[in-house]
Amino acid sequence: MTEAPIAADLLISGATLITMNAERQVIEDGALAVAGDRIVAVGKREALARTVQAKEVVDGRRFVATPGFVDAHIHITGDPLTRGFARGGPDDNWGDKLQKWVIPIFKAQTAEDEKLSAQCAALAMIRYGTTTFVEAGTVCHLDAVMEGLDESGVRGRVGEWVEGRAFNPADDQAKVSAAAIAILESEVERYPDRGGDTRLAAWPILVGHSTNSDDVWRAARRLADERGLRVSAHMSPRAGDPEWFLAQYNRRPLEHLADIGVLGESVMLTHLANIDESELDLLVGAGAGAIHCPHAALQGGFGVSRIGLFPEMLDRGVNLMLGTDGVAADILSSGRLMASLFRDARCDQDLMPAAAVLEMATLNAARAMGMAGDIGSLEAGKKADFVLHDTWLPEWGPVFDAPEQLAFSAPPGGVHSVWIDGVRVLEDGRATLLDEDRILADARQAGRAVIARTKLPNRTSWPVI
Ligand SMILES: [Zn+2]
Repeated sequence: MTEAPIAADLLISGATLITMNAERQVIEDGALAVAGDRIVAVGKREALARTVQAKEVVDGRRFVATPGFVDAHIHITGDPLTRGFARGGPDDNWGDKLQKWVIPIFKAQTAEDEKLSAQCAALAMIRYGTTTFVEAGTVCHLDAVMEGLDESGVRGRVGEWVEGRAFNPADDQAKVSAAAIAILESEVERYPDRGGDTRLAAWPILVGHSTNSDDVWRAARRLADERGLRVSAHMSPRAGDPEWFLAQYNRRPLEHLADIGVLGESVMLTHLANIDESELDLLVGAGAGAIHCPHAALQGGFGVSRIGLFPEMLDRGVNLMLGTDGVAADILSSGRLMASLFRDARCDQDLMPAAAVLEMATLNAARAMGMAGDIGSLEAGKKADFVLHDTWLPEWGPVFDAPEQLAFSAPPGGVHSVWIDGVRVLEDGRATLLDEDRILADARQAGRAVIARTKLPNRTSWPVI
């Protein structure tokens, strides 16, 4: 008796698959079958040729296939329309730059601008193989952004900007907290997360640092726990956060978050460059996720090569992920940079091998997001979110060890095609759902208009004549 064939919409045939399954199998001359929005079979090409009946077959012989990558921390509004502009004045420190440049540029954007900005970010992510992202909690016009993202096909979790601390002594802290909590409650209600089948949802994502009162932190955690969501927030990129928490509470940031009952598995914190050993213990004990954004950390001079405890986090089982912070779109180069940096800093060429880089970019983030059953690996039953990396390039040559080559020598622009939810959102390097030329043209115009509204001067590196 022969078994009934597996009905599929699509079969990728002949590719090298980096499955990221429990055995971390790499399948040479492999195949992957998709029905609707899920993967229905993964295996050797010959085996699937016998068992799968597909409506469409894509010749995968020149490709390495991976699960879609996860950018665990990215700003999709603000910067995409005005890159390179917010450099600050000659005497501005980091705080001045934020207050006088970065935030005014954010706030000068209309709903239409933010929609466009989110689409630029989605376009950039997809082009580098990122299929899922966690936004950084700095969206001002959530509805417009969600509309823009929906058109792009990308999977994401997004947070509206809340300001939960009354820095102005004239403001009533209870009222400021209540307003912030109302925003959190409203967004998770309007964009509910029903698990893997929800492509876009809102989470109680906080800007973090010192910008939230204890009541707002606790409310975010409560909403996350009640609804199976995650709290994400910035913390301790520089010494400023520890100094502020020490002055305010006489304890360091993670000590404070643990003390008020916020630190836990449903929390993922970005940067954590300036934590000490006691905070590392708390992170380990709480099972909270940590996100390192190497490009932002290095360009921002956080000092991670000197004081960052990221290798120790990995050693001690902290769920470590990668973010771009919106500084660079490419999650693979972020991983490559992180590994190279810490190998050099610790004089240890075996630190952070390809396996660690690829796990951070896929499985670790999937687990932290509560989506391990849906994304992060190429396995039957998971979402059809995957990437074909073109190996027909001089930087590849023969595929001897696909994970090593992908993590450390493949060119960043080698992504050929991307599927999300079974939909091919990128084909031959071009977006299929978004009109790239229109978006790029509109973004140039909108970016100039935003800067004109801020009245900030353009401080070019060299005289422009
Ligand atoms: Zn950030």
